[in-house]
Amino acid sequence: MTKYEIHYSGPFLLAALAVSCFFLNLIYYSNIPVIYKGITDEKIVALTFDDGPDPTFSPEIVRILNDYQIKATFFVVGEQVEKYPEILKMEYDAGHEIANHSYTHRNMDSLDSDAVIEEITRTNGIIHKYTGQHVNWFRPPRCKYDMKVKKEVKCQGMDTVLWTSVIETKMTKDPEQMALRVAEQIRPGGIILLHDSRLDRTLTVKALPILIENLQMQGYRFVTISELLNKDSKSVVH
Ligand SMILES: [Zn+2]
Repeated sequence: MTKYEIHYSGPFLLAALAVSCFFLNLIYYSNIPVIYKGITDEKIVALTFDDGPDPTFSPEIVRILNDYQIKATFFVVGEQVEKYPEILKMEYDAGHEIANHSYTHRNMDSLDSDAVIEEITRTNGIIHKYTGQHVNWFRPPRCKYDMKVKKEVKCQGMDTVLWTSVIETKMTKDPEQMALRVAEQIRPGGIILLHDSRLDRTLTVKALPILIENLQMQGYRFVTISELLNKDSKSVVH
């Protein structure tokens, strides 16, 4: 019987190890979940506001939320926070959750890893500076993300959160129709996207009380994203 002896050279082993690590990383990071909603039978939903803080619309939105004694989550842009830190503090002091919506609101999938890390960590640092709050959630601007973004978000100890319904739509400019459209779509655990900056958000401000009252009539309660996705609750992932 012939015996074969195989000798692996050092460089060959290193190359094989590197290829294995690459594919293990690929499998691991491509499976990082993105959160669209919480899984619950309880009638709870989360209102989330993107793009602020904004001196025109954010204070009015906070006033409405406070009037209804509702807590929401603000996905803030780092550049905006540096311009209007007092508005961020007002949101935080009113009991709302602050989350990360990047530093410059660029499309994250067009940036390299270092730039993505900079966008995330710089904004987390500013939020922590003004509130002392640890940031749990990142939402990529315009829903533009890739595996690299999910990886860097996870590496920062955060999760990527998107939404189930959005109130601003090209279908109608009527605040009542905007609110009713979302109210009809919503299910327990839903995450609702609204905006408090970047464009004219007058319609959003008008639609907000209509949406709140409709959902309250349906028996819904409003929670922050961290309350919606607490340790005991699961979340829908894609
Ligand atoms: Zn945005």
